[in-house]
Amino acid sequence: MLAVVHSYWVHGVEGQPVTVEVKVQTGLPIFTVVGLPAGAVREGKERVFAALAQSGMALPPRRITVNLAPADMPKSGSGFDLPIAVALLTAFGHVPADPLGNCAFVGELGLDASVRPIRGVIALSMSCRAQRMKRLFVPLDNAREAAAVPGVEVVGVESLHQVVGLLRGDLEPPYIPPRPAGRAPRSQPDLGDVRGQPLAKRALVIAAAGGHSLLMSGPPGAGKTMLARRLPGLLPPLAEAESLEVTRVHSVAGLLDDDDPVKTDRPFRAPHHTISAGGLIGGGNPPRPGEISLAHLGVLFLDELPEFNRSVLETLRQPVESGHVRIARVRHTVTFPARFQLIAAMNPCPCGQVGEDCVCADRDIARYRSRLSGPLLDRIDLQVHVGPVTWHELTGAAGESGGDSAAASVRVAGARRLQSRGYSRDGALNALVPARRVMRVCCLSDSGSRLLEDGIARYGLSARSVHRTLRVARTISDLARKEHPGTREVAEALRLRVGLARRSGMPAGRPRTAPAARAAGVAPLFPGASTD
Ligand SMILES: [Zn+2]
Repeated sequence: MLAVVHSYWVHGVEGQPVTVEVKVQTGLPIFTVVGLPAGAVREGKERVFAALAQSGMALPPRRITVNLAPADMPKSGSGFDLPIAVALLTAFGHVPADPLGNCAFVGELGLDASVRPIRGVIALSMSCRAQRMKRLFVPLDNAREAAAVPGVEVVGVESLHQVVGLLRGDLEPPYIPPRPAGRAPRSQPDLGDVRGQPLAKRALVIAAAGGHSLLMSGPPGAGKTMLARRLPGLLPPLAEAESLEVTRVHSVAGLLDDDDPVKTDRPFRAPHHTISAGGLIGGGNPPRPGEISLAHLGVLFLDELPEFNRSVLETLRQPVESGHVRIARVRHTVTFPARFQLIAAMNPCPCGQVGEDCVCADRDIARYRSRLSGPLLDRIDLQVHVGPVTWHELTGAAGESGGDSAAASVRVAGARRLQSRGYSRDGALNALVPARRVMRVCCLSDSGSRLLEDGIARYGLSARSVHRTLRVARTISDLARKEHPGTREVAEALRLRVGLARRSGMPAGRPRTAPAARAAGVAPLFPGASTD
């Protein structure tokens, strides 16, 4: 007797198809699972047999072999219990084999024969749709999540007994309430709540428009965290496909809300500085997504940046550029999406009070700043100082600058439309323009080129810094609806790039060149800038 049942399992954040084959032979009663099953899959045998007995369908002693094909991929998770049980029931003739051809099953079994929820169901449902599988049987608690993928007929089940009834045609599939369409995203904190800080607000809008990373340095209480929390509200709402992508990562991590399983808001993740490398980029066995993947299509906020372990921060270098992270294990490699926007904040020195009030020794300040490596800072497009707020700004007497989130997000959306129409595939932001195309996409006016050349000489910018400055200048001209970045745009991009380094001697660019330029009596590059 041979039975075949379709199923899926989660590899990384992808649903992978699996065929569960069960062969029953006479002989010594032995139960074997082959096809590289991991611990939870092997243990499934006990749950399956207990659930079958509980449902009144105890199996006669036989030699049973279960094969999970393709056999060369190591498989993990508890979702194989239900398909193995259904295959056994089919092999022993308890349920007909005919309806199984276009059905797939996933779910964990309890000893009481209940069907329990599993992680990553939406990934399985997406894979089911891609394979044009007609019906997907899932645990009832996962049914709304699975049904968020259009085009898949989802059957939510509570018990093995119910599955048998459905397959025999004795029961009707339970009703799954549809997801309310077009639900408005939750309201986000408003940029108008932040007093003063025109430079930081401007940097935030540019970051939102071009997908640029941003580092804010300033004393405690200046409003750095408040500003960072306003970034998701400036970004355009998630499109339907993006919403499913975000939901998929959170589902695999087991972080979905039972009542409202589909994510419609852009994620905002703010891990504590004691986080491990595995927690940040993902890890474990089987690998689970880390904070950078949970921030996919949203914002990753790292407060107190120099307090993070340096080796942990270094792991960010590759995903910041590529938009994904690869985690290698002995037999396989998992890729997690990680297209997040990095926002970081730091104090200018260990005590936080830069200037006359600072009580830190020079040596302590140097050690504090050296925790941030040059290569990581090189990858942060915008670096601004966030100073203390004045009394005039706090009371509103200075007049509000920067406007509210609604007005800013309209400008951001306009700039993003220009980017997607202008030069490349949909959704590609200026921050992600590949290096080989930067010169063509961010084509400067003649005067803009001359200014940049001057800036490179004065600040000793690396090739990567120059490319990042060009991308920022492109975003600034997109916000202004200008075709080519000119002097104004290049000057602002340079100021937002090297302003912090000039102010504090941070290792962005090559700090030695800025004092060297000053010592040589070079006129300030940005007469209007408030720095220095
Ligand atoms: Zn200090």
